[in-house]
Amino acid sequence: MELDSLYQEVILDHYKNPLRKKLEPNYSAQVHHVNPSCGDEITLNVDVVEGKVKSVSWEGVGCSISQASTSIVSDLMIGKSVDDALSTVDAFSKLMSSKGTEAGDENILEDGVALAGVSKFPARIKCALLGWMAFKDATLQSLNK
Ligand code: ZN
Repeated sequence: MELDSLYQEVILDHYKNPLRKKLEPNYSAQVHHVNPSCGDEITLNVDVVEGKVKSVSWEGVGCSISQASTSIVSDLMIGKSVDDALSTVDAFSKLMSSKGTEAGDENILEDGVALAGVSKFPARIKCALLGWMAFKDATLQSLNK
């Protein structure tokens, strides 16, 4: 799998030094998501307070794409309104279904655009989406409380 080397560096950096990778004791919802096709597994806590994402934290094991992507989404969402956070997840999902034809909007996805090249590799898309889907699931569960 070939990715632009600058992007590869961003992914590797998140993999080696993952952000928010320590479960916070305060959360409004906790989810556990697995990607059996690769063996990726994460537990993710989201704390939604007054319509805003107050914290996102996680623990997990898996390939560099899944771990880097979860690091990226966790850091990116903190401080966003729930609406903004969910539309950011949608933007990333759209990027992952682009089959390599889109670069992603860096203003919205920040380091998430480093994963754009993954959309060319159907077997890896679930790795990249794992953390984002876990975040969405936990955020929606928080709203239903
Ligand atoms: Zn994986």
